[in-house]
Amino acid sequence: QKVADSTECGTTAAIASTVPATSAELPKHVPYLLIGGGTAGFSAFRAIKSNDPRAKVLMITNESRKPYMRPPLSKELWYSAEKGEVTKDYRFKQWTGAERSLFFEPEEFFVDPTKLMETVNGGIAVAQGFTVKKIDPAKHIVTLADGYEITYDECLIATGCAPKSLDVFAQATPGVKEKVMVYRSPDDFERLKRYADEKKSITIVGNGFTGSELACSLANYAKDKKVKIYQIFPESGNMSKVLPTYLSNWTTAKVESMGVCVMPETSIKNAQRDEAALKLVLNNGKSLLTDVVVVCVGCEPNTSIALTSGLEVDKSLGGFVVNAELEARRNLFVAGDASCFYDPLLGRRRVEHHDHSVVSGRLAGENMVGKKKAYNHQSMFWSDLGPEVGYEGIGLVDASLRTVGVFALPTSNPEPRTDNLTETAVMEGGGSGSTVTVNPETPDVKCDPKDADEYGRGVIFYMKDDKIVGILLWNLFNRIGLARTIINQNKKYDDLNEVAKLFEIHA
Ligand code: NAD
Ligand code: NAD
Repeated sequence: QKVADSTECGTTAAIASTVPATSAELPKHVPYLLIGGGTAGFSAFRAIKSNDPRAKVLMITNESRKPYMRPPLSKELWYSAEKGEVTKDYRFKQWTGAERSLFFEPEEFFVDPTKLMETVNGGIAVAQGFTVKKIDPAKHIVTLADGYEITYDECLIATGCAPKSLDVFAQATPGVKEKVMVYRSPDDFERLKRYADEKKSITIVGNGFTGSELACSLANYAKDKKVKIYQIFPESGNMSKVLPTYLSNWTTAKVESMGVCVMPETSIKNAQRDEAALKLVLNNGKSLLTDVVVVCVGCEPNTSIALTSGLEVDKSLGGFVVNAELEARRNLFVAGDASCFYDPLLGRRRVEHHDHSVVSGRLAGENMVGKKKAYNHQSMFWSDLGPEVGYEGIGLVDASLRTVGVFALPTSNPEPRTDNLTETAVMEGGGSGSTVTVNPETPDVKCDPKDADEYGRGVIFYMKDDKIVGILLWNLFNRIGLARTIINQNKKYDDLNEVAKLFEIHA
């Protein structure tokens, strides 16, 4: 199994000279085996290495790249692209101003997989372009697609998830299909950038994280180009599964003001090839000619190896069922999007966000070196509508729950952003032991969101059984530790306005 250079979409990523031509060149046995080359897998490696400095770690990924992070692909990378600054290693400028690459480490950091077992100091070797088909948890054997077997002492499944498509496209002709894409990788970024540079119309389907972030980023990228950006979804507003209706409506208006033609309550009935373009027949009887459709309608965890390996998948949430230590079987762990874990506070969950991948990957890595820790950390997520509007969330941030929002009017003095991509930032603050005290010095804040003409800064509480189970911080940064503390307290508050004061939204 040889890794092909991924030039199909014009990517500039280099393929390491250390990629073995066949699986036979891979080690027969490794102490630590990581399946999946994403954030959760790499985070596990870092935890293993810091606890076992000479650890020999083999990562197997069916991608043709070294481990990289995904969040900038729908956000900052487009702003660097606009300035013509995208480099071979996908460097980008964070909203904080700091510059970094999508890749966690440069090529030189990695050990040649064929030499991993001979190295004295250990390290991580990445077997790129290899797919795992089966695990034998009892015998500790991982089998690759070509039948090659590798035995392990400790193994992690960090296979992430794969974007879904829509039936209307899955059953379409090849001519239609070649105009439809999903969005998750640097190849997808390259392909979409080419469309934005050359074509007249791009249609995004879906109102969730990818669809809404990408719509804003593309609109900014395309502002001096001829391409028009459409966003279609059946719901009434952007991010309607996450934001309360008033904020979802506000967000939709904001996305429109950025130049996106947003079409809520719209779905695609039929898609036909119309010479060079695609003709989408919509539920409202209208049709839309577009050069490409980007389907962003959620993703499904990659659990195909569960059946061949005798592992349990959660029937309603998806993902491999794991215990509190993130173990599916003895010495076999699961982290990231693919892990369905038990949260002692909020029940069984599966979380699809970067920070969860970092934190669960780290905990799995620690347990792979024998720490025996339980996963009870509340991970967070963040999203934005370009550089001006950003939000962070923690716990059950679910628009179907009752919410209470407290906002301050916008000021001309925006808050400095959190740097969520550095590993230390995501862990700081919080802890279940602290108690919340109300600061009486803080001035009164608005309690009814309808009073706010504009949603400048604010905090939204998501309520279940009169307890706060989720918190969203709107244009309010560096306070996620406090939000975590409040959720961990798991108690009823008489006056949420008093709790809101703790967030110093007027500060
Ligand atoms: P991931 O998708 O980054 O990594 C999974 C890896 O496993 C991929 O490299 C995949 O190719 C590989 N893989 C899957 N099945 C395999 C098999 N059988 N054999 C070998 N390799 C296999 O997932 P992750 O590590 O859980 O974390 C990524 C995080 O980033 C997620 O939490 C996700 O929700 C988040 N995310 C963020 C954004 C954004 O903010 N724009 C976009 C997408 C994803
Ligand atoms: P998502 O779950 O955020 O949103 C999917 C949206 O598609 C939902 O709003 C849903 O209502 C809609 N949808 C579902 N079925 C549909 C259908 N048949 N027709 C039309 N719409 C339909 O997923 P996403 O935006 O595709 O993102 C993919 C993954 O990457 C998710 O796991 C997401 O959490 C992750 N991601 C995270 C971030 C972040 O943390 N900031 C950013 C980008 C992506």
